[in-house]
Amino acid sequence: MADVNETLARMCKRASAAPSQSWRDIPALLSAVENVLALHSEEALTDRMHYCSTCSVAWPCPTVRAVTDALGAIDE
Ligand SMILES: [Zn+2]
Repeated sequence: MADVNETLARMCKRASAAPSQSWRDIPALLSAVENVLALHSEEALTDRMHYCSTCSVAWPCPTVRAVTDALGAIDE
């Protein structure tokens, strides 16, 4: 999985340099995504079992999976 924070930073940099105002709104949206991801953190139950400390389900939780899958599709 590509590092999500690196992907967000790269997208933010590109959007900030865009000529259109609507594109320059994108960093705020990316910041919202980043804040959502920050609420979900990976914790180790054992060496092989990791879970989301917010959702208490196996890592990655559905929220993190949805965001990272969407960003992964864009970043390819
Ligand atoms: Zn979660």
